[in-house]
Amino acid sequence: MTTPGVAKLADHFQGADAHAGRQIAKIETMIVDCPTTRRHKLSNTEINFQSYVIVRAELADGSVGWGEASTLGGPRWAEESVEAMKANIDTYLAPALADANALDFELNAAKMAKAASRNNAARAAVDAALYDAAGHSLDLPVAVLMGGAVRDKIEVIWALASGDADQEIEEANRKFDAREHRRFKIKLGFNTPDQDMIRLRKIVSALEGKATEIIVDVNQGWTEAVAIRYLPQLAEMGVSLIEQPLRPGLIAATARVAARAAIPIMVDEAAFTGPDIIANGISAAGSVYSLKLVKSGGLNEIKRAAGIAQACGMELYGGCLIESGIGAAAHLAVFSTLPRLEWGCEHFGPKILKTDLTGGEIRFADFHVHCPTGPGLGVTVNEDVLASVARKG
Ligand code: MN
Repeated sequence: MTTPGVAKLADHFQGADAHAGRQIAKIETMIVDCPTTRRHKLSNTEINFQSYVIVRAELADGSVGWGEASTLGGPRWAEESVEAMKANIDTYLAPALADANALDFELNAAKMAKAASRNNAARAAVDAALYDAAGHSLDLPVAVLMGGAVRDKIEVIWALASGDADQEIEEANRKFDAREHRRFKIKLGFNTPDQDMIRLRKIVSALEGKATEIIVDVNQGWTEAVAIRYLPQLAEMGVSLIEQPLRPGLIAATARVAARAAIPIMVDEAAFTGPDIIANGISAAGSVYSLKLVKSGGLNEIKRAAGIAQACGMELYGGCLIESGIGAAAHLAVFSTLPRLEWGCEHFGPKILKTDLTGGEIRFADFHVHCPTGPGLGVTVNEDVLASVARKG
């Protein structure tokens, strides 16, 4: 097997300056609004299109890299919105990287963290664009820069979130029969718990006999009392994981729920930073952690988050915020290098957009997402599609 970039690396060992030509020449941003194939409901919002900030980084040698930051229906899932991210990248993050070199990954991340506190999604988008550009310049896949891939495909979960059980059953059957997905995440919390149970039971019984797996995401929609009351029903239905039942910060309450539950609890919105993960982990408020670039703030940081969660005894799950192929590729580049990823990943985003922003390099087959292998993030950006979904004015 020939690793791309070996010839270029050899040049460096012969005395060439690895940093030469890799100065950051330009960081540009745009907001895009991409229509989705169906509505997607969460406990506190509903979307029919997905908005992203797209970052384009160009190096002195002409190499170009792309990054993306996603939100779900504005500043609701977390505090960042695409409008705020674009403003903060243009005004603070990009200027902080003036005269920087793309290969100084840790230094650049530190400069961004100094220029803007939190703003994790915005920083991650710039970070991903710089990794992509550096990867193209070196002719190396980003996965190699992140330690090297230990897997080339990941079992991929599909979200059922229209809120209409009949539609969701039809969708799940279609995905299963096409061998695209056999694991489904069902969004709860936008109805009363009783209505949610009726909908869930309908879906579970319709899929009975098929080798499917159901997990649920409450997106903070329940109280401790509701969780305690309804968890036995979820267990009885065979649900294998419950994601973020309570609001972030309710660590003791979530730990009490976890202690009584026959289903593992996954920590998502409750833990962005290392200290958050530790607080949840050592309080036994969850036994699975959802990894997301929008929480960790960069590619190295998401690997560190994985290590912290594992040190707390948690299993790992590759989360998504319905990124396009650009953001999915950034996640897959890191996920492919994690020694353990017990729960597989989401990153069905490219399939839920009417038109993805990339050239189809991310392949979905045999219930897995197949990680792109080309240089950089391994995807090409379709600039015609990008122009067609760009927000005007
Ligand atoms: Mn979630």
